[in-house]
Amino acid sequence: MIRHDHTFVIVPEGAGEPRRIFVSKKIMNIILYTVLILLSAGFVRLVFYANELVQLRRVAGPIQQENRELHDRTRSLISERDGIQYSKDSLLNEVETERTAHARRLSEVTDELERLENFVTDLKILAGYKLSKTDAQKLRATEIDQGDDNGGQGGVDIEPEAYLEGLMARSQDSLKTTIDGEAIALAKQLRNKRNELKDLRNFLEKKATLLEGCPMGWATSGVVTSEFGPRGRGFHAGIDIANVIGTPVYATADGVVTFKGYVGAMGKEVEISHGKKFTTVYGHLSRYAVETGDRVERGDVIGYIGNTGRSTGPHLHYEVRVNGVPVNPRPYIEKEEE
Ligand SMILES: [Zn+2]
Repeated sequence: MIRHDHTFVIVPEGAGEPRRIFVSKKIMNIILYTVLILLSAGFVRLVFYANELVQLRRVAGPIQQENRELHDRTRSLISERDGIQYSKDSLLNEVETERTAHARRLSEVTDELERLENFVTDLKILAGYKLSKTDAQKLRATEIDQGDDNGGQGGVDIEPEAYLEGLMARSQDSLKTTIDGEAIALAKQLRNKRNELKDLRNFLEKKATLLEGCPMGWATSGVVTSEFGPRGRGFHAGIDIANVIGTPVYATADGVVTFKGYVGAMGKEVEISHGKKFTTVYGHLSRYAVETGDRVERGDVIGYIGNTGRSTGPHLHYEVRVNGVPVNPRPYIEKEEE
C-alpha cells in the first residue's frame, strides 16, 4: 500500500550491498513544509531584530547627547570648584598678610609710645621732678639697652612721615579696617605730643638746667688708691677713694636715683642719672641714704663708704658714665677746682 515516491540509495565503498531508503511523498512534504516554516520564522525574527535595532538607535542618540552634556557640565563644575579654591586661598593669604601688617604696625606704635615715655622721664629729670621708682628703673633699663641717650629719642627712630604714608596707603586698601584709622590717629597724636615735648626740652636746655646735670667735684673725702684705666689684666672703670667705713658719699650733680641695690663685685651700689647723657655710679657702700626714684642735688648724701662686694678694704668706687660708657672721672672731679 505504501507508495515509494522517492528512493535514496546509499552505496558503501568497497564490498557490501548498497542500501536503499524509501521516503513517501507525504513524509517528503512534511520535511519540506517544516524547513519552510523554520525559514519563515527565522526571517520574521530577523525583521523583528532589525526593527529593534532601529528603535534602540533612536533612543540611544539622545542618551549619548545627554551623556556628552553631563560630561561637559562636570568638567566646568570641576574648574569652577578649582577657581573657588584658588579664590579662597588667595583671600586667606591676603588676610594673613593684613594680620601680620597690623601686628607690625601695632608694635611700631607701642615702641613709639615707649620712647615717648622715656622722653617724658628724661624731661622730668631736667625739670627737677621726683621720679616714681618704676620710671627710674625703666630709665636705667633704657640707658643700659641703648647706651645712648641721643636727645631723649634713643635708638632707631620711626620716620613719622614714612610711617603715616604707609598707613594712608593702607587705608586705600579694600581690606581697610577701623584699626587702621585708630593707628593713624594714634601715630599722629604721638607725633604731635613728641614735637610738643621737644619744644619744652629745648626751652629747658636753654635755661642751662643741664649745667646742674654735669658731675663735678669729689663724691667723698679720702685717698685715691686706684685711678681710671687698665689695671692688671682688666680695666678699672672708675676711681677708688679709700676712707673709713661710714664716711658720707655725696651726689656729684643734680639727678635722679635710677638704681639702689647689690651688684656682685660692686657690692651695694647707687646709680644716679643726671639727664641728657651723664650717669654716676657709687660702689662698695656700707649703707644707702636714698631710694630708687629719689631726686638728689649736688652735695646730697646718697650713702656711706663700705667694703661690700669684691673689695680689699673700705673705699668708694666712683664712676662717671657718658651715654652709658664709663669715662675718666678725673676731669669732672677737677672741674670744681677751676
Ligand atoms: Zn674701683
